[in-house]
Amino acid sequence: MTGITIADRAAELDAADPLAHHRDLFIGSQNDAVRAYLDGNSLGRPLAVTVDNLTSFIRQQWAGRLIRGWDEGWLGVPQQIGDQLGRVTLGAAAGQCIVADSTSVLLYKLARAAVAARPERSEIVIDRDNFPTDRFIVEGIARERNLTVRWIDVAYDGGATARDVAAAVGPQTALVLLSHVAYRSGHIADVPGITKIAHDAGALVLWDLSHSVGSVPAELDAWDVDFAAGCSYKYLNGGPGAPAWAYVAQRHLPTLDQPIPGWLGSADPFAMGAAYQPADGIRKLVSGTPPILGMLAMRDMLNLLEQVGMPAVRRKSELLTAFAIEAVEELLTKHGVVLASPRAASERGGHITIDHPAFATMVPGLWEDGIIPDYRNPDGIRLGLSPLSTSFREVAVAIEAIAGRLESSTGAAAVE
Ligand SMILES: *Cc1c(COP(=O)(O)O)cnc(C)c1O
Repeated sequence: MTGITIADRAAELDAADPLAHHRDLFIGSQNDAVRAYLDGNSLGRPLAVTVDNLTSFIRQQWAGRLIRGWDEGWLGVPQQIGDQLGRVTLGAAAGQCIVADSTSVLLYKLARAAVAARPERSEIVIDRDNFPTDRFIVEGIARERNLTVRWIDVAYDGGATARDVAAAVGPQTALVLLSHVAYRSGHIADVPGITKIAHDAGALVLWDLSHSVGSVPAELDAWDVDFAAGCSYKYLNGGPGAPAWAYVAQRHLPTLDQPIPGWLGSADPFAMGAAYQPADGIRKLVSGTPPILGMLAMRDMLNLLEQVGMPAVRRKSELLTAFAIEAVEELLTKHGVVLASPRAASERGGHITIDHPAFATMVPGLWEDGIIPDYRNPDGIRLGLSPLSTSFREVAVAIEAIAGRLESSTGAAAVE
């Protein structure tokens, strides 16, 4: 021991953090009943400005403009927010991103469009540790289209690697669907490397950025990605059930054949025409009426991310996860806790997972005490560190609380 406690280190890091003051922009960050909110990667906190913006939208836009609002601008909102998202966090030029549906539905639309673009091929590659919806959607499409799923096995503290993908793809691969940041381990995939391997095999790629967008910068255009989708209620603070977003590379837009052709993705919705004629560009991915109210909070967070800049956000994210690992090693390793995330900052997204058999029963008690991490089956606690709303102090408070519980449950001093 150095004599400097984890709490002291947290105080030093908070004092030196150039982004620390942004915490005050989020409602509830000063709420003493929540001592540590480490689940911003599952549901981000609301920004205070969102209350005003939602209220004024309801009063002035909805109540004031009524049905005229659609013609006066609402119809363009999904693409405007998509373009901002592309510019601020995704490295995507305008005209390739749109907000619509849930992540699950967008993954379905994109994966179906991808396999339709490779009709002579029979396989989809995905990893076994991908988020359930990604696996279920792929299995559903495989049943529907008589395709085979080729599974990649990954390490408990990692994710799919370029080598795994090289071994899995071949002349039958239509699509590779993987996550940029793995939802459990936090592993960052080599998106450009894997994309190139898939392309060299003649396959298309669909990347799920749910656990990276807003914390780990992406360069979708430069990485030559075909399709991507992601969540907006995690690091984009869009609120419970906020609609997701999708990216389709410009080169695929003219031929994209999406499986849910609805009237608002048609070329001229208000012509009420006899036959479906898809809109030009990314709007063809839309099916039904866009959930405008649901996408306003995300725009507030994008404005903040644009102002702060993704490089600074990523820097803080790396410091938060590095500190969490330092605290785990100092306080929890001696109790048998194992880090289930990559150690190298360059391979780690905005969260880490730690494993211990006692965690399966520990989380409800932590929540009661105002310490809110996530439980991940079978014995993982996931610590999600949302860069602009999480303090180093919260990390210290949570890990000290976990240490306290492990000490009292084993009832014995740990092996030093
Ligand atoms: C959170 C998450 C989703 C969420 O899907 P929804 O349809 O929006 O509920 C999908 N994929 C991954 C990898 C996620 O982390």
